[in-house]
Amino acid sequence: MSSKNTAHTEGAAVSQGRLERVVIVGSGQAAVELAASLRQRGFTGSIILIGEERNLPYQKPPLSKDFHPASKAAMLLRAESFYAANSVELRLGAVAERIDRVARVVVMADGTPLPYDHLVLATGARNRVPDIPGVSVGTPLELRTLAHAHNLAARIAEFRHVTIAGGGFIGLEVASLLRSREIEVDVIEAADRLMGRVLSPVMSDYFRQLHTKAGVRLRFRNTVKSVGKDAARELVTLADGTTINTDAIMMAIGVLPNDALAAAAGLKVDNGIVVDAELRTSDPAISAIGDCAVHPNPFCSGLIRLESVQNAIDQARCLAAGLTGWPSPYHSLPWFWSNQGSARLQIAGLAADTDGAVLRGEPGSDAFSIFLYKGERLIAVESVNKPSDHMVARRLLSVGLSVPKSMAADTGADLKQFAGAAVVRKPSPVT
Ligand SMILES: Cc1cc2nc3c(=O)[nH]c(=O)nc-3n(C[C@H](O)[C@H](O)[C@H](O)COP(=O)(O)OP(=O)(O)OC[C@H]3O[C@@H](n4cnc5c(N)ncnc54)[C@H](O)[C@@H]3O)c2cc1C
Repeated sequence: MSSKNTAHTEGAAVSQGRLERVVIVGSGQAAVELAASLRQRGFTGSIILIGEERNLPYQKPPLSKDFHPASKAAMLLRAESFYAANSVELRLGAVAERIDRVARVVVMADGTPLPYDHLVLATGARNRVPDIPGVSVGTPLELRTLAHAHNLAARIAEFRHVTIAGGGFIGLEVASLLRSREIEVDVIEAADRLMGRVLSPVMSDYFRQLHTKAGVRLRFRNTVKSVGKDAARELVTLADGTTINTDAIMMAIGVLPNDALAAAAGLKVDNGIVVDAELRTSDPAISAIGDCAVHPNPFCSGLIRLESVQNAIDQARCLAAGLTGWPSPYHSLPWFWSNQGSARLQIAGLAADTDGAVLRGEPGSDAFSIFLYKGERLIAVESVNKPSDHMVARRLLSVGLSVPKSMAADTGADLKQFAGAAVVRKPSPVT
């Protein structure tokens, strides 16, 4: 493939310096967005995208929601024609094995050297596989890749009961999906509430009730101790001694960042690849974005690694700007969503370190929000089936504005109008 792209904005006012060749390791959300953003910004050098998986790059959120094995095209991040039209060289089914930072070369598993001017690690994360007797890689169900989703879809018809280890987003999305097919579900959660790492206690409790009503058996403060066979079924033994006969066990206990390639190259890693505000690793010729990147985020104190589509996309766009001559610190508000049964959960901001919660609407109505504060400052907003509250929250939080608590609690108060006026009044930063 040609190293020059002629099909897009020729002569765009970009400052590329000596940047001729960008190599991206990973073929997920962050990688593809970066390639697209570089081209949109007029980058004319070569872009090589390396992906371990053989499939064309696809979206992950549908895997645990409305996955239909037949709807492949709808899941693609970009149409197949995008890559050739934009001179993005795809190397799929290919693993980047080593980085030679002195020679600025990525060495592939088959020994092929790929020189780079700038290397981007968008290696994502992989599911945690616990060290439990009887559980080994491949036997339990899991969801991270298209292959995992096909495996679940192929087997779902034979299930009468599934045990899910982990009461986080993915475990609970799958629990809802299974209940919609009248499959019995036990969810085993080590903590004392659902999605405890990311949700306020009141919102966790709403989802406890939602899933209980849907027929999911929730077992808190418990873990899977061992998995064995009982005739044709699996026999799961829990830490409290309970045994469960089940057709399949799904592991949904979180992910680990794919940072081994970076670590072996001597880059700084700490539960992910550590980057600075402009998403550069400890080697300025290498950046990291998406699920694998531990970054300074202005919406929390210290470094954080986020696992969300928003973060993957916004980091890719921020890096593309930097690589084409417009560097700026990453400064996007984190937001998330999850669909569980009839509830669409949306979260704006990071809810850590809050000391006050204001309820807007009634959980019993299945459409409400929780505004989370530190002192009088709004920190995050969790919404169920209230997209208008979520959008207002994103607007306000992005620019550091709050809603008075009394107004947040008053469902008659027009938050959209308040946000519009407040954002207009906000003084511009002095430059
Ligand atoms: C089932 C599921 C549901 C989700 N639902 C939501 C949701 O509702 N909302 C939301 O915001 N987020 C959701 N997410 C999270 C979101 O999809 C991720 O945050 C996002 O995909 C991260 O993109 P990424 O590019 O950083 O990593 P990934 O998408 O993980 O892509 C990384 C890619 O790099 C490849 N790779 C790694 N190392 C190498 C190597 N050495 N050589 C070659 N290739 C390599 C991997 O195989 C992988 O394909 C969900 C994730 C999953 C798994």
